[in-house]
Amino acid sequence: MTCEQSIDKAVSSVCPFCGVGCQISLKVKDNKVQYVDGLDGPANESRLCVKGRFGYDYIHHAHRLTKPLIRLKDAPKGLNVDPANPLTHFREASWQEAIEVAAKGLSTLKKNHGGESVAGFGSAKCTNEEAYLFQKLIRQGFGHNNVDHCTRLCHASSVAALIENIGSGAVTASFNEIEHADVAIVIGCNPTENHPVAATYFKQFVRRGGKLIVMDPRGTAMKRFATHMLQFRPGTDVALLNAIMHIIVDEGLQNQAYIDEHTENWQAQKDHLVGFSPEKMAPLCGIDAQTLRQVARTFAKGKAGMIFWGMGVSQHIHGTDNSRCLISLALMCGHVGRSGSGLHPLRGQNNVQGASDAGLIPMFLPDYQTVKDNNIRAHFDEIWQEESDAIAVSATPGLTVVEIIDAIHKDMIRGMYILGENPAMSDPDVSHARNALAKLEHLIVQDIFLTETASFADVIFPAAAFAEKDGTVTNTNRQVQMGRKALDAPGEAKQDWAILIELANALGLNWQYPSPREIFNEMKLGMSSLDNISWERLSSENAVTYPCNGENQPGEAIVFGDGFPRQSGRAKFTPASVIAPDELPDKEYPLIMTTGRQLEHWHTGSMTRRSKVLDAVEPEANCSLHPKTLRRLGISPGGMIRLLSRRGEIELLARADRAVAEDMVFVPFAYVEAAANLLTNPALDPVGKIPEFKFAAVRGEAVN
Ligand code: SF4
Repeated sequence: MTCEQSIDKAVSSVCPFCGVGCQISLKVKDNKVQYVDGLDGPANESRLCVKGRFGYDYIHHAHRLTKPLIRLKDAPKGLNVDPANPLTHFREASWQEAIEVAAKGLSTLKKNHGGESVAGFGSAKCTNEEAYLFQKLIRQGFGHNNVDHCTRLCHASSVAALIENIGSGAVTASFNEIEHADVAIVIGCNPTENHPVAATYFKQFVRRGGKLIVMDPRGTAMKRFATHMLQFRPGTDVALLNAIMHIIVDEGLQNQAYIDEHTENWQAQKDHLVGFSPEKMAPLCGIDAQTLRQVARTFAKGKAGMIFWGMGVSQHIHGTDNSRCLISLALMCGHVGRSGSGLHPLRGQNNVQGASDAGLIPMFLPDYQTVKDNNIRAHFDEIWQEESDAIAVSATPGLTVVEIIDAIHKDMIRGMYILGENPAMSDPDVSHARNALAKLEHLIVQDIFLTETASFADVIFPAAAFAEKDGTVTNTNRQVQMGRKALDAPGEAKQDWAILIELANALGLNWQYPSPREIFNEMKLGMSSLDNISWERLSSENAVTYPCNGENQPGEAIVFGDGFPRQSGRAKFTPASVIAPDELPDKEYPLIMTTGRQLEHWHTGSMTRRSKVLDAVEPEANCSLHPKTLRRLGISPGGMIRLLSRRGEIELLARADRAVAEDMVFVPFAYVEAAANLLTNPALDPVGKIPEFKFAAVRGEAVN
């Protein structure tokens, strides 16, 4: 019997892991995914990585939530619930009762303490339609903008810099455009592990003669393909990038015609760069002046160049400044808006682009329209059929993820609705976040598993996994793609959009959406980015890129060739100065800890640690240090290490890795038994409000 004969059906959908957005075909028999093939999607052309091909058995895991749960009276809140046996702390309830209890708790807080006492974290793993409904529920139901999601922990600083300087928070070119580039910078990201299918395009680019410049404090796997590898000192991105820009100006390599025609504030940028000579910056960033010169010339002289970046750039208290430098570097070389040119922050979660576009952020309504603008708010009032004379949508930007956690400690926020996020694992200084969750008077968590966050909940709604629902998602390339239901959800679990509607109606909002199609159609009324993209088109074509200029067009892979969506029509240079990381190493805590993902494990591990294949490859909490550092600490490779910061300590397996600098330790954050975020520093970038996950002072010692 062939593979094809052994299945009941094949359903086209989109991989639920990273922002590359690979299209997949789910092969189903007896309501189970048997295997998965890559489809010829615009981002992946049939390619898949190990997660996308083998990481789906979590859908059928015995820990799936199948019934609504309500916390037992007097059950202590904390990480003490066994996901295999939740009935020690919760009792099963009907949907009607769970919705009533959830709505009553939230309404009581609103009545007694005002709408601001309730906040929401939505999810970058849900569909665009669900993200849209979630932000609408918080804004319409509670009259404020205290709604955010994991973009705050990911590319918030990149988006802030992009909006400020080029007028749009999304990429200017798809990553596949690297095919037409002759030079590319990959900085602060590890695509081989985090965006594996995108990395295959980068490697092909090198094979056909493209010049790849890799910049990272850690020697990532892309190093093997690099023309230049700049392993710079952590936290010195601005010094490094300003030195490169200084050389370009000094040697007259800038594209002056492009600068004159398409940008503003050039003189200020040029004047600012005078103080960043390579000789002066070399000792700071750890890259010698000659190498900096070679790299500056290579990038500036390229006919078409792209810049890709990730969390290594964004997760700093100077993350916005880091991104400003990358934008300035691309602009001064004219590497924007042409084939093979562009700025591309590689988005992390499968739908973090779409969730942000849909307004799941505290300062913007859908399509990044500021909440401060009366006309915009009035337009959404009209779409949402608000009846009051005054504008109902609040004009005050809301609190961000870390600010919401702080506000709980100050009793400003007393209730939360958390959909598909896991702040009890993902937030910086996670003990602080867990204490906040325990303090909430009313917490509703909606998820597919009883996550660490759900163990603090008062009410838990069981949700459908991606393969059990319909809806659109948007990848890092701005490609809006159709996800399709292939399976029935287990037990009484429901699709997130359906649960949101039930809760909204219990809160008195009178929402009527028979299916995700009607939600998508409402989104189009307030989001011009979806012009010429219809549910029907997506159903038949699977993907359309925004912006799209016609109903028969595939959408624009490259944007801003003819001006920028800013008032002046020009992009802006914003000079950046060097700011030291918030917590520098010292005698007591001499190592720099940086966190990240591994190829096999996804974010907080709730899905991949329940995938047999992936967890078999990486079953244990681990960290990586240089062999010399391990020797100095008296730890053998594979031995146990205790890492301590000012905020906590963890014990985990220590690996020897020459790619990690001698004063650093790399810690993946997927493991609850040694949660990296017990150690991380919650200091925020003042603009993007993103925490400094990439730099915390720690100490290592052998576990005897
Ligand atoms: Fe899924 Fe990303 Fe791997 Fe593609 S590259 S299969 S989207 S995890």
